[in-house]
Amino acid sequence: MAFQDWMKQANLIGGDWVGADGGETIDVTNPVDGSVIGTVPKGGRAETARAIDAAAAAFPAFRDISLMERCGLLWKLHDALMDHQKDLAELLTVEMGKPLAEAMGEIAIGAQYVRWFAEEARRAKGEIVPAGVNGRRILVTKHAIGVVGMITPWNFPSSMLARKVAPALAVGCTVVAKPATATPYSGLAWGALAEEVGYPAGVVNVVTGSAREIAGAIMDDARVRKVTFTGSTEVGKELIRQSADTVKKVSMELGGNAPFLVFDDADLDRAVEGAMVSKFRNAGQTCVCANRIYVQSGIHDAFVERLVEKTRAMKVGDGREKGVEQGPMIDMDAVEKVEAFVEDATSKGAEVVTGGGRHGKGGTFFEPTVMTGATQAMRFASEEIFGPLAPIFRFETEEEAIEMANDTVYGLACYAYTADLGRAFRLNEGLQYGMIGINSGLITTVEAPFGGVKESGLGKEGGSQGLEDYLETKYVCVDGI
Ligand code: NAP
Repeated sequence: MAFQDWMKQANLIGGDWVGADGGETIDVTNPVDGSVIGTVPKGGRAETARAIDAAAAAFPAFRDISLMERCGLLWKLHDALMDHQKDLAELLTVEMGKPLAEAMGEIAIGAQYVRWFAEEARRAKGEIVPAGVNGRRILVTKHAIGVVGMITPWNFPSSMLARKVAPALAVGCTVVAKPATATPYSGLAWGALAEEVGYPAGVVNVVTGSAREIAGAIMDDARVRKVTFTGSTEVGKELIRQSADTVKKVSMELGGNAPFLVFDDADLDRAVEGAMVSKFRNAGQTCVCANRIYVQSGIHDAFVERLVEKTRAMKVGDGREKGVEQGPMIDMDAVEKVEAFVEDATSKGAEVVTGGGRHGKGGTFFEPTVMTGATQAMRFASEEIFGPLAPIFRFETEEEAIEMANDTVYGLACYAYTADLGRAFRLNEGLQYGMIGINSGLITTVEAPFGGVKESGLGKEGGSQGLEDYLETKYVCVDGI
């Protein structure tokens, strides 16, 4: 097979691959040069309603298959992902732009989530709780929540669905997924994979098209009992408001503004390596990317020198070319946003040490950039950059660093480099973030609960907590024993 075989130019609804009712389509482009690689249906309310019908109809029978059958399907799904890893990765690179090696990693971690939840499903245990009176027993039981609506972003178009589809299917829920319009094929591929491994029709449905209409149909429908969203805080807040009318359970994986703290006692090589991966992976377009790099005075100049050296050595280009470490940005809006951050910071006294503008390759390529002299008054101190710009702030004391790090509405990931064990514990307690990397710039792993605090979201993905989000808890009181 080739990656084109996974480019489904149709929606999966109730086991059928179909177009939009009116036959309308949306072009899908390769961000490397803007060329059109194919189309997908421009679905809306009517198509989504049919997908919900199919998911609701499939739910009772799917929920009731045996646990081992459900786990068996997930094992097959894991194997299918790994068998087709190269093609699925190439598809991802072609529609999204990230280097092929990163896309291979994304498919692999998606498969790991599937395997993890196949294992966790066997531990979705309830409890028997001591009753306060004689003759009574209290049983707490866990149940699949029902039809789940899933809305995902373009920056990790495959693995963001993995973290939702896998736990949902593991406990017996059915799915209506809406992938991002910029990167729909990696989302549609989940439908094709589910079909290939034998999920019954209607268990996994994937609809592309108008975000407002599809999300509107999902949010308005009382049969959808849970919505899981990954994307911007702005849209997430809107969905939380909309969920009120039918009182849906929601999981929200929203924006970040990660501080990356480097203390004088840090291992310099390790800190620079961590900053490179945390900042420049996916061209800086990850929710856990280092957004603000705070470096203590004593190590500041050495850190900047080493970081600049490594940044200058990065190979920028088409993600499918060998050795490329940074691809294009997703679109021109993203480029203009980063340019505006550079301009704002420069006008307030920051200095561009390397990069600073559009890359000579043209299109949406942007130079890997390092700026020094950053301050809390600059826009990137409070906003998500989502691009390959590393602003360096200087600090003197631990207290000052913690205060600046927490000075944001976001609370997703943060990082700190130090050799002082006591400080590591103080940071863990003082930093208001859902995830903390101590001496590590890459912390996503299936065993741990991924998710933020404050305006970065609600709920967790991965870990045992990631399964809990798709379960309802009931209690039965048996009396007169
Ligand atoms: P986005 O604009 O919020 O879009 C995310 C998804 O929501 C897309 O499928 C999009 O559809 C849909 N959408 C857009 N407007 C909507 C509306 N009014 N109602 C319902 N759905 C709507 O975010 P993005 O630009 O794709 O992704 C980047 C953001 O995601 C960043 O803020 C990043 O930090 C965050 N993110 C968070 C995590 C995490 O785990 N916390 C992980 C990855 C990314 P269309 O594509 O059709 O517009």
